[in-house]
This record gives sequence, C-alpha cells and structure tokens, in this order.
Amino acid sequence: MSSSPRAAEGSVPVSAQLFDRAAGIIPGGVNSPVRAFHSVGGTPRFIASAHGYTLTDADGNDYVDLVCSWGPMILGHAHPAVVEAVRAAAGGGLSFGAPTEAEIELAEAIAERVEPVRRVRLVNSGTEATMSAVRLARGFTGRTKIIKFAGCYHGHVDALLAEAGSGVATLGLPTSPGVTGAQASDTIVLPYNDLDAVAAAFAANPGEIACVITEAAAGNMGAVAPAEGFNAGLKKLTEADGALLIMDEVMTGFRVSRSGWYGREGVAGDLYTFGKVMSGGLPAAAFGGRADVMERLAPLGPVYQAGTLSGNPVAVAAGLATLRAADDAVYAALDRNAERLGGLLTDALSAAGVEHRVQFAGNMVSVFFADRPVTDYTSAKAAATWRYPAFFHAMLSAGVYPPPSAFEAWFVSAALDEDAFARIAAALPAAARAAAAATPEGTRA
Ligand code: PLP
Repeated sequence: MSSSPRAAEGSVPVSAQLFDRAAGIIPGGVNSPVRAFHSVGGTPRFIASAHGYTLTDADGNDYVDLVCSWGPMILGHAHPAVVEAVRAAAGGGLSFGAPTEAEIELAEAIAERVEPVRRVRLVNSGTEATMSAVRLARGFTGRTKIIKFAGCYHGHVDALLAEAGSGVATLGLPTSPGVTGAQASDTIVLPYNDLDAVAAAFAANPGEIACVITEAAAGNMGAVAPAEGFNAGLKKLTEADGALLIMDEVMTGFRVSRSGWYGREGVAGDLYTFGKVMSGGLPAAAFGGRADVMERLAPLGPVYQAGTLSGNPVAVAAGLATLRAADDAVYAALDRNAERLGGLLTDALSAAGVEHRVQFAGNMVSVFFADRPVTDYTSAKAAATWRYPAFFHAMLSAGVYPPPSAFEAWFVSAALDEDAFARIAAALPAAARAAAAATPEGTRA
C-alpha cells in the first residue's frame, strides 16, 4: 500500500492537527455531519488514500473499510477499470453543458437493470434526486401532501428532514431549524413497516396525498428490511388513491443486487431515486420511472428541473465503469462478505455476552445492541446505542473502520479478502468486550 504520511508534530496525530485546522474554516471541521465522530467521540481520521478494502489515514494508519464511502464503493477503492475510465473521460474534457452519448448509456444501463424505470434523468446527488422526484410527483398529481417514514433518510431536502435517519438521527434532531412550517406541514411522518398507519393516513386525506416516499429497504436507521408485504402494500394503497410510490434506492440501488432492492423483491414503484453505486464514487445521481410521469419534466412538460453539471462526463464514466464491472461474481461476493461479517459480529458479541441483533437488509449489515428485532425507528432508538462508541473505537484502534454512528448500516465491498477478514476477526473480541463493559454514563461526548 503506498502512502506518504506526514510526520505528526510531537505526539499530536496528523488527523488531529488537520481536524483542528478544518474546524477553523469548515463548520464542525467536516463537509457532512456524521464524519465528525460526534456520537462516538474522538477525532475523525483524515484519509490520505484508499485502495481495495484499505483506507490509509494522514498518519499512515491502514484500516479495513466497512463504510465504503457510505455505500458506493462496491468494487473497493481505486478499482483499475473505474480509475482508467475516469482518466480517459477527464482527458476528453471535464464538462460541456451539452448532451453526450455516455449519458444515454448510463440512463440505458439503469433502465435495463430496473424494469419499471422507463425514463431517467441524471442529477448530482441523492438529495437532488429525491427533491426532484417529490416535486414531479406533486406536479403530476396536482396534490401537495407527502408521506415519509420515521428513520428513513432521503437527503437533506426540506420537506423530508422530519424524523429523518442517518446524521439527523445520529445528532438526535427532530428536524432542522430553517425548515419552514409550510414545508414541513405537508409531510406526514409515519412509522416504518406500519401499513395500517399508511391506510389510515390515506383515509384521513383522500385525494390529497401526492406520493409515498420510502427507502426500498431502510439503511439509515441501521439496516431494517421492509416486513414481508410492506412495499407491496404501499404499492396497493398508493395505486388505489391515485398517489405515486417513490422507491428511494439511493443506498440499495445496484448494491443489494444488480437491480437493487427491486431485483430482490420485484415490487414496482412509480418513481425511483438512485445515487452512490451508479456514480462509482463521483458526484452523480438519478431519478426515473414511468414514462408518462417522467415526461411531465421540462422541456417536455411544465415541472422544472435542471443542473449545470448534470450528466457530468467524468462522473458518468465512473458510474458506467462501475456498473459494467459489477458482474454476478461481484454481487455474490458482496452477499457472501456481508454474511461472513454478520457471522463474525454475532460470534464475538455472543461470546462477550452482549445483548445484540445483527440485522441485514440485503447485503447491508447492522449491529443493534437490542434484545428484540429492530423493525422501525422507535425500536432502533430504544437500542443501547451507548454501547456503540466503545465498540467502534476498539475496532478503529485495531485497524477496522466501521461507521461512526449506531444508526448507520455497515457496507462491505467485493474486495474484502481472507486477510481483511482475519483483521476483522482479530479486532472483534476486544471490541465486543468493550461494548459489554460500556455503561450509559460512559457515552463519549
Ligand atoms: N436517499 C437515501 C436512501 C440515502 O441513503 C441518501 C444518502 O445517504 C440520500 C438519499 C441522499 O443522497 P446524497 O447524500 O447523495 O445527497
């Protein structure tokens, strides 16, 4: 592994020096809140480089990466085919503000994998994708209200921040100042996996709900798969009322199977949102779905949506190269690696006598320090999340990098090999003992 770590000054690690410097210019020292380690304490590691399953920090420490940039890096870091595609694209120009053939290829690759998607528009982030999909659903139906589920995260869209998962859950925020009452009041927040609550909301607001947006399988309150029949029930209820179903596959898309969660379950949404894997780690995302709905978008229809850098040639090249390299062997490896990781977690935590649940949503994995299955945000929050900081830091100091929050899924890559699993297996017993010894009062600030 090549890295050229800077010398730490005295005993202060380079990451700590950088965090200090970052905090003087970037709010909280980070460009996305969970990176700041607030809920686990300690200093975020500043990353110098990454190859395969290994992250190397600015002090030259290596970690087995179980975050994978929060999902995208299914092939591992700096995959040669992706890096080569990016180099080739960059050599041909960085941005044109005009259409390219590669954009068609990426849109076709998405539609070919997810059958209900007949039209695709490329955007720059998952947030933009969900924001645009909700606007389109409102424009198409002429309705204003939307349903979302507590603990699901759909990016930092104003209307979708209420009881959101991910960083909003990590920081314990009910929503965010700056979201106006008007923006929030059209959002109906319901418990995940509760079809009766959805039916009651439709009964109370007949003909008023534009869409239901759901993570196709929840990963932002930890991995919480939809109960059997939940997504199919959403489909039925939305169809009966004339509302649209938006399947948010930003996290699951092209990760949990070649065709995302749709490939595992087969429930068709009206609209889909994608990001992460489909851009190979560069900033690109997409939304798509039924042709009659998507063709309400400008320039064909009146629903406006646009982007200076949308369909950026370098990001599109990274996405296409990733999707092309992700063959059946890659998906088999992702599933196998998730199962193996889950098995190791279960063994170590059981041996240490810690109450826990290892849960899966496809090949996304989570550890909940809970005594019963986690099915929604209430049960996720009821878990003994105070055990997580000690567990996390024991793993980190042993050279394994899990997500720095109890409310996030763990992401495997296909690059994990025997050496990686040996390091994970070696790190786990002490981490499990640290979790067992943790106390609610011991939660690190
Ligand atoms: N939707 C889901 C399900 C996500 O997990 C995320 C991000 O984690 C988003 C939307 C927002 O994507 P982005 O962070 O690219 O804006």
